[in-house]
Amino acid sequence: MDDPRSPVGKYRIPFNKPSFAGDENHYIADAIARGHISGDGHYTKLCHALLERDLGVKKALLTTNCTHALEMSALLTRCGPGDEVIVPSFAFVTTVLAFVMRGAKPVFVDVLPRTLGLDPAQVEKKITPRTKAIVALHYAGVACEMDELLAIGARHGVPIVEDNAHGLYGKYKGRWLGTMGALATQSFHETKNFTCGEGGALLVNDAKLVERAEIVREKGTNRSRFLRGLVHKYTWVDLGSSWLPSDMVAAFLWAQLEARERIQARRRAIWERYDRELDGWARSIGATQPKVPADREQSWHMYHLLSRDTAQRERLIDHLEQRGILAVFHYLPLHLSEMGRTFGGKEGECPVTEDISSRLLRLPFFNALTEDEQTDVVRALHEFEG
Ligand SMILES: *Cc1c(COP(=O)(O)O)cnc(C)c1O
Repeated sequence: MDDPRSPVGKYRIPFNKPSFAGDENHYIADAIARGHISGDGHYTKLCHALLERDLGVKKALLTTNCTHALEMSALLTRCGPGDEVIVPSFAFVTTVLAFVMRGAKPVFVDVLPRTLGLDPAQVEKKITPRTKAIVALHYAGVACEMDELLAIGARHGVPIVEDNAHGLYGKYKGRWLGTMGALATQSFHETKNFTCGEGGALLVNDAKLVERAEIVREKGTNRSRFLRGLVHKYTWVDLGSSWLPSDMVAAFLWAQLEARERIQARRRAIWERYDRELDGWARSIGATQPKVPADREQSWHMYHLLSRDTAQRERLIDHLEQRGILAVFHYLPLHLSEMGRTFGGKEGECPVTEDISSRLLRLPFFNALTEDEQTDVVRALHEFEG
């Protein structure tokens, strides 16, 4: 249901459409002309430098996607068989799967209704001597309770991994999302604010993990040290895989990152217009609009509503579909998924997740959504009377 690529042709206004900043073709042609199209070429380095400079992170490494950056995080936090990782049940599959791939057991925790991010009180209760990581997903680019989570992590010596796929350029008490955990992951999938089709990044904030992050991304070799002239031959030193995107992909991403202010300004305008124009209507049908706590700044990633109940959400989806508009929902609670149940997930274990999952609805939201298209979506919603 939440596959945004589902029958787009059927819809006048799709849920998502990849949007172009303008210079993608130009930079890709240039990457080709430069004669270095594998990983870590000119454009990859430009993207790394931009992210490191903007965010002030120790190391930014482009990856083939966010899932792979999460898999790198599982390796870097040394998750393995017999270990546990604390994860939200209200999450994307690979937020959890990346750690399960290393043999770790997911320990599902519920989210807070206020942010749809991890509930710190429950996180602390689930920590055991086997806990290797806590994964904090900043849902819709609205920060989790980071002060509390970082304090819990520090108390128990457990690193925080931020799944920041939604949250690039969001802030928590003045700090950029993605800069607070030991590690953070970004996605540049075509449904995200900035895209190169499929892409991602690992942000490394813990200086002790920088060197090993480079190694695991370079097939378990110390090739990065070799390229910097620190060793005179490179060799196999650790686990790893090949997680570098081609420089043509990085060239595409560079065009988008260069336009980051324009893209974020457009997304903000879309978000604020939905919020303003749906205000009275949402209240009249008993639906709830998102509220961002005053001490955080969101990343303008999505606009979602909470319907009164599941039946109302179904009617809303049908109502919009009849008018050629695709609205979608996610996430199905992971603790109740087929895989989640094999780890002991049971009904009633994460009540907020179970409730939110049955009522959340996401409206069409992409950089190229036109004013007229948004007018149509708003008008269609206003025609829905409950
Ligand atoms: C999109 C997304 C991912 C996965 O990103 P890919 O780049 O497609 O691997 C992971 N976590 C969250 C929260 C996401 O939204």
